[in-house]
Amino acid sequence: MARKLLSYGKPDEPDQTSPMLTRTSPEVRQAVDQTTDSACLCLETLVNSIDGIVWEADPRTFRFTFVSEQARRILGYAPEDWLEEGFWEAHLHPDDVGLAIEHCTGWNAQSPRRCHEYRMVARDGRAVWLRDLISIEMRDGRPAGLRGIMVDISEHRRLDKEEARREIERLSLYDGMTGLPNRAFLHDRLAHALKAAERDHSHVALLAVDLDRLAHINEVLGHQIGDRLLVAVAERLRGAMRGADTVTRHVGDEFVIIMEDLANPRDAAVLAERVLDELSRPFALEGHEVNISACIGIGIYPEDGTTPLVLIKHADVALHHAKEAGERNYQFFCEEMNRSSTERLQIESNLRLALQRGEFHLVYQPQVELETGRITGMEALVRWTHPELGMVSPARFIPIAEESGHIIEIGLWVLREACRQTRRWHEQGFEGLQVAVNVSARQFRQDDFARQVRAVLEETGLAPECLELELTESMIMQRPERVVAVMGELRALGVTFSIDDFGTGYSSLSQLKRFPLDKLKIDQSFTHDIGTDAGTAITCAIIALANSLRLRVVAEGVETTEQKRFLIDNGCHSMQGYLFSRPVAASEFHALLLMHRVPLAV
Ligand code: C2E
Ligand code: MG
Ligand code: MG
Repeated sequence: MARKLLSYGKPDEPDQTSPMLTRTSPEVRQAVDQTTDSACLCLETLVNSIDGIVWEADPRTFRFTFVSEQARRILGYAPEDWLEEGFWEAHLHPDDVGLAIEHCTGWNAQSPRRCHEYRMVARDGRAVWLRDLISIEMRDGRPAGLRGIMVDISEHRRLDKEEARREIERLSLYDGMTGLPNRAFLHDRLAHALKAAERDHSHVALLAVDLDRLAHINEVLGHQIGDRLLVAVAERLRGAMRGADTVTRHVGDEFVIIMEDLANPRDAAVLAERVLDELSRPFALEGHEVNISACIGIGIYPEDGTTPLVLIKHADVALHHAKEAGERNYQFFCEEMNRSSTERLQIESNLRLALQRGEFHLVYQPQVELETGRITGMEALVRWTHPELGMVSPARFIPIAEESGHIIEIGLWVLREACRQTRRWHEQGFEGLQVAVNVSARQFRQDDFARQVRAVLEETGLAPECLELELTESMIMQRPERVVAVMGELRALGVTFSIDDFGTGYSSLSQLKRFPLDKLKIDQSFTHDIGTDAGTAITCAIIALANSLRLRVVAEGVETTEQKRFLIDNGCHSMQGYLFSRPVAASEFHALLLMHRVPLAV
């Protein structure tokens, strides 16, 4: 049988001289011709010792013509059993029968080798995974020989499965991008940490760390850099930890650190400082120097919560407060924060009815041309007076309205009211007065924003050149192509645009040039700092930038004559601030207009 296996002879002509032999040299042929029965025996021993089922089959009927002894060891069936017709198909695992069909079709000279993996059912009922390496001999375009070796790979499969299970487990507990433990891990770990702390009467601190500006970096530098930044941040956070701390990636750009076994809750502040320091160093990513900062909210067990969910929630509330307080700071949770979260909910639910109830009104703050002292325009600012909450500052409710979507209705109301009032002042003899209206990101993103503005202008009869829309840097940097198109459409009507709070965002000169802008408004924090080195330098730089882009500059928040003097000396065009007037109701503004009809002396 072994001789037959090694020959290339047709299976139904087993003892013919094989073509292989005709291809070999006379010496070899002679040597083979002299093959004795004992050589055959050796060969058979060799075949049977191979750790796999060596087989040969008829390429037309697929019936086995030879199966090595290993078949008995691996599957429990004697080699003779295999030679029965239909044996292989009958012992295939039911789920793998489909393979049999594939196994037996489509042979050609271009693909003379195959490898299939499938299961056969062993005599004792076990499913045995086999890797069947098959080769076919084609002669004159027809299959002439079919043989192969089946290797038992059940153990590999089991290990692969084990490996896969471990991988799935790893993926379910670790974040694929940064390799840090994920949210599921955090909950698990925190639950353990709290149990241990309860037993040992110790403290646990939870630090929720949120990166500022990641969305913006994704937008401007691309998601690849954003992703690399997250990996680099994870690396720095790991470096800042003590051995007993765990850092996890919670969601998106939020990381959570668990500090176990705290001697003193103030140690959490020390770690928070260290993390903020680490993250404030620039990151070098693919040739870009990227600067970010972070905010941290801290919750302490047991004071701020005794369950993972409550502690996480409170650390998040503290984080929210830290973010409101500005960049690069940390806050410990306190009950007062919970109160303000409740207040936030109250604001949100009341906003819904505020428009219908007529609780909003507008105030106007003059913008004064520094060279002439004339009031050239004003910024319209919304005010909300709620019967119980009292006067709610726009800085408080606008972000909530933005999140809840109420800003769309409110923004449209503000626009209509501001245009209507300005038109009235025009009619009263103050022609040319320009009104600046703040536009929120969500409002601007609406598909029909340009149409809404045009409709309001038509309805109120205000000349489009007398309407200025205040946008922010972050707003225009989101989907800039669309922003340019919407601005272009309104610009064609005559509407003008300014960038509010300029200098607090992330725009670069080359990016700014793309937008049809008219004005930059220097953020009041810089005006406030005029006199300090940084404030002075930034204000001068913004004025120079505006001049180079041929834009006008308005300084916001001008409160002192020194600031005003500095702005005049450095070529700023206009100012807005308490020095001249606070934002006032329409009737008061009218009085201001009457008073300042004659240009003021500078
Ligand atoms: P903003 O657009 O930068 O408005 C300027 C803010 O600075 C106003 O605060 C104004 O009262 C204040 N301000 C003006 N002069 C001075 C000054 O000399 N010193 C100081 N310390 N502050 C000064 P306000 O009215 O509380 O508005 C805050 C923010 O709320 C606005 O900042 C704007 O972002 C938003 N906002 C106000 N009204 C609207 C609105 O109708 N729609 C939208 N989307 N946002 C609005
Ligand atoms: Mg503004
Ligand atoms: Mg501003």
